[in-house]
Amino acid sequence: MTDVFDRLDDINLIPVIGGSLLRLSLKDKEILGKAYSPTNENSVIKLKNFLINPEYSARDFKKLTEEGNLLKDRIVFTDSGGLQEMRFGKLVKSPEEILKWQQKYSNIGFALDKIPFKVNKSLITGWTFDEINFDKYGEISKKRIHDALKVRTEYNNFKYYAIIQGINYDFYKRWKNIIDQPGIDGWCCKSPSDDPKDLVQTAGFVMSELDKPVHFLGVGKMTKTIVLIYMKKYFKHKISFDTNSYNVGSTGRAYYLPFSFNYRDFVISGGNVGVYTIGGETIDFGNFDFCSCEACNSIREIQLHHPEKYEEYIGPLISMHNLIYEVHTINYLKRIYKNGAKMRDFAKNVFNPKTAERTIKLFDFIDDVNKHGYEAAKEKWKHLFTKEIKTTRQGTLF
Ligand SMILES: [Zn+2]
Repeated sequence: MTDVFDRLDDINLIPVIGGSLLRLSLKDKEILGKAYSPTNENSVIKLKNFLINPEYSARDFKKLTEEGNLLKDRIVFTDSGGLQEMRFGKLVKSPEEILKWQQKYSNIGFALDKIPFKVNKSLITGWTFDEINFDKYGEISKKRIHDALKVRTEYNNFKYYAIIQGINYDFYKRWKNIIDQPGIDGWCCKSPSDDPKDLVQTAGFVMSELDKPVHFLGVGKMTKTIVLIYMKKYFKHKISFDTNSYNVGSTGRAYYLPFSFNYRDFVISGGNVGVYTIGGETIDFGNFDFCSCEACNSIREIQLHHPEKYEEYIGPLISMHNLIYEVHTINYLKRIYKNGAKMRDFAKNVFNPKTAERTIKLFDFIDDVNKHGYEAAKEKWKHLFTKEIKTTRQGTLF
């Protein structure tokens, strides 16, 4: 098998495959003689790269792998399941056990670290940055990485990424200096908030300080994704980023309109199949005949010939439609990312004028980081950045 890094593209969208899509995969054979899961060899929609979270999906994914329907040339990313420690206060699996599982079932595994955040009880799902114990948590993470790497036996077909924690450039750098050690093949980074202008700081750190492939955790929104793709022309290593925003199909039956590049314009189900309420007015979208993707074809087929299956499959199929739409958008950006003018055109076409203007300023910031270094760029654009983010509500801390 070719080395994992040779099989990755320069820019890689990594959808998170969880819950409903994995379960759908397991039932594929029963459904209308067709496979609807994007992870399967015989699926109507094929997805080469994806991420699973062993904490939630280990059993289903193991079963799926053993049944042998998965795409042959896939690259599977696996999270470490770090969330378990935040939820239950202790590790359910040791770093060694997690690495063994990762190298058996996946191609790129993220290290299990000690997260420098504590649960903030005043928020429903919030965490507060634990600045006091930051270095201590870094040392624990370093040891966990070291312990895990001792049981590693696969190198060509499995890569190991360590996660860089922190809330800004200086903390990222401090954490990286603590945990860095031989055996780490790549880095994971993440933004301290859902705001693209905070992610751009992380991108500046990546450009200035890192010299290995990088995966960005929990990127999701297009306003964030585009910043990373813009940065890529200055970063010589491969980048990847995960998303599960397409999954709004399963969770809320939200459907990205295929002919509208404006990400604000998706519609939310009012509860009834194919009937949507926008701004208090009800519109019947019928059989989704305004999209010809494989998922929408399947929606129509189920509507016509298997109406009894509709309720069960409509959510996951809308998710797949959204995913196809995202994949196509990223495929386009992969073609144009080196051309600054084309990227600015794209931002103007995709976003509302205010967001487009902000996005283009972030591009300018990235250009300045490349030209004058991070400190000088930060000084020039300091009005762009929020003061300091110490509390976060985002679900993807890890
Ligand atoms: Zn579609």
